[in-house]
Amino acid sequence: MTRYYFDHNATTPVSAAVLEVLVPALLEVYGNASSIHRDGQIARQRLEQARRQTANLLACDPKEVVFLSGGTEADNLAIFGVVRAHPGARKHVITSAIEHPAVLNSCRELEREGVEVTYVRVGSDGVVDPAEIRRALRPQTVLISVMHANNELGTIQPIEDISRIARDAGVLLHADGVQAAGKIPLDVKALGVDLYSMSGHKLYAPKGIGALYVKSGTQLRPIQFGGRHERERRPGTENVPGAVSLGFAAEASASDLAQESARVASLRDRLERGILERVPASGVNGSAAQRTPNTANIFFDGLEGEAMVISLDLKGFAVSSGAACSSGAVEPSHVLLAIGLPRERARASLRFSLGRSNTEEQVDALIDAVAESAAQLRHLSPTYSTRA
Ligand code: PLP
Repeated sequence: MTRYYFDHNATTPVSAAVLEVLVPALLEVYGNASSIHRDGQIARQRLEQARRQTANLLACDPKEVVFLSGGTEADNLAIFGVVRAHPGARKHVITSAIEHPAVLNSCRELEREGVEVTYVRVGSDGVVDPAEIRRALRPQTVLISVMHANNELGTIQPIEDISRIARDAGVLLHADGVQAAGKIPLDVKALGVDLYSMSGHKLYAPKGIGALYVKSGTQLRPIQFGGRHERERRPGTENVPGAVSLGFAAEASASDLAQESARVASLRDRLERGILERVPASGVNGSAAQRTPNTANIFFDGLEGEAMVISLDLKGFAVSSGAACSSGAVEPSHVLLAIGLPRERARASLRFSLGRSNTEEQVDALIDAVAESAAQLRHLSPTYSTRA
């Protein structure tokens, strides 16, 4: 059976073009970038080239790019690194209720360590209100962490407005850009952030590589201890083939960002239109907000999201019910609950996230499959048939 992949926010396949740089790098660039011999120097050169390419995507200085293992580590380093670097016994952090677990659970850990955290609520549109951030500020606030784009809804957050508030208050701002980098135009200086996380496997590079932008001069304590790699921000022998892949993928995504995002947005809109036309009692979550071009989150009243995922999987389509990390958990998505969806509707929602390989034909086939699965499952559902 041909399989169609509509779960690019969970992860992307490594692209053929990335593989073409990754495989030779694995074979040939095996030196340790800290070694002074020729093999080490070659690795160092490739690492620094990758840093420049990644910096180009972020629009920052290469010196401000720290390579690490992925989005989770970038978020952890940003959050713990800033809080621990800050003097003072009482500290306060502001974040939002719709963050990825990499941020939310870092904040929960901070609370266990005695740091106070405010989880700002979001509106039904899935967007953080900057005024709420301003209201949450305290004299002890040391960090604000708000994601650039939400992984479940695709909603883009007003980072520039939040950065003005942070700057006025003298508070550092971190943005988790894992779902934004490579999908929407990026300029960390214009955004006004001090720290920005990104992850290779969301933009067609392999898993296990990511980057954190750290604005020069930012006080940051390392969270791991070892050698003096990455300007003493992140110890450990550098993953040069990973960095080479990330640098290449960053450049590739920047090179056709406008065309590819317009193409993907029109496919996403076609998918949403098609589903809403064909499936009664369905609707788009977070549709009122500005969103990343590839993400659609749709509710199907009376259905179980997990049952739809399995039914579509059997038909050859990979989609997701909420975040991949919470799949298998019985709890509905914290993001959908945070935007005010009733528990039943949150559990009846699916995320479709498109990417480079998707075509109009695939989208049309997916619309047919969704309509068929929804009809089949509703036919079996006593709750839906009594309400319909
Ligand atoms: N932040 C967001 C918004 C994400 O979507 C993800 C992954 O799903 C992460 C962080 C974690 O990134 P990684 O899987 O590279 O650790």
